[in-house]
Amino acid sequence: MKVASYIRPLVANLDGYVPGEQPKVKDLIKLNTNENPYPPSPGVISAIRKATDSRLRLYPNPTCEPLRNRLAKYHRCHPEQILVGNGSDEILALVLKAFVEPSAGSVVNKDVIQYFTPSYSLYPVLASIHGCRANPVALGKSFEIPALSQLKRRGWNFSAPLSLVTTPNAPSGTAYTTSTLEQLCRKQKGIILLDEAYGDFAQENAMELALKIPNVLVARTFSKAFSLCFQRIGYCVGDVQLIQALDKIRDSYNVNGLGQIAAEATLDDINYYHKTWKRIIDTREGFTSALRALKFEVAPSQTNFIFAKPPDKPAKQWLQILKDNKILVRWFPYPETKDYLRITIGTEAQMKSCLKVFKAFLNQ
Ligand SMILES: *Cc1c(COP(=O)(O)O)cnc(C)c1O
Repeated sequence: MKVASYIRPLVANLDGYVPGEQPKVKDLIKLNTNENPYPPSPGVISAIRKATDSRLRLYPNPTCEPLRNRLAKYHRCHPEQILVGNGSDEILALVLKAFVEPSAGSVVNKDVIQYFTPSYSLYPVLASIHGCRANPVALGKSFEIPALSQLKRRGWNFSAPLSLVTTPNAPSGTAYTTSTLEQLCRKQKGIILLDEAYGDFAQENAMELALKIPNVLVARTFSKAFSLCFQRIGYCVGDVQLIQALDKIRDSYNVNGLGQIAAEATLDDINYYHKTWKRIIDTREGFTSALRALKFEVAPSQTNFIFAKPPDKPAKQWLQILKDNKILVRWFPYPETKDYLRITIGTEAQMKSCLKVFKAFLNQ
């Protein structure tokens, strides 16, 4: 028997998710995975330090109860409306398992996830892993959600069992108003998960929809706004029955103990984070203006990154130029994204370095 023949065809044929590159070079400026350039609050670091003792031999709280209690206060809901995951990526995988049938043997149309393009590039990968169909629907020219009256024509399925909406969107950075999202959610017959990984950087968020519309879930993460990528904490909020369904299928100890402690301590220090968000937003606005002055087309962003179409050379060539100058940004090879670079907003100094490289290599 060839070893390869032990592997399910679905798995053998899978193209896995490609994460942003983790650099091995020293002094590299890392603007490719939307990490926050500022550290967690001192209170968070010290809470983690204090917890690293003989407790490490124990299992963590299996339901993240203390954290869920804190989150429930933060969002003014019940702890039973919250599920915590090993990053919001785990939440996304769980919602497919809970709400979407794999295609083989499925009832017609119960095996579909749909999402807009461009949006989070993990969604199609999750569909392949789950063995269900994906229904990608193009956003408008300015990355807006098309009018409800046009959505059907563009192939949107109002009966899809699960729709995933990145809001504000990634990689475009575009924000959607809560009222636009509410209209979509109310018309949708299946579950809509609003993936608010960048919600804290935006002018509005749609958490209220998860608390008042039964088919809506909102997913959040501590990774981006709360500088905790390393700790893998995400969660989703929604109707108690949906949360119970997700709770049944997660691993019993899905969230690590230090991560739970870090997330709880984060909620004690929200003011610290508000300050870092403001700094990031100020840096983003300055960087955007500077790029526009260099004839970059930059989509208005309400996130901690920008999506920019560079002049002069193909985006892919700029990607390499930046890399040669020790700056990593992200480029996605799809037709609707290939002309753009996604650049995470780092510190003022990092963005200055990035601008300097652009200026040095522009032919004008
Ligand atoms: C980063 C990101 C996530 C995942 O965050 P984790 O909590 O670190 O797993 C989910 N959705 C979007 C759109 C993201 O950009």
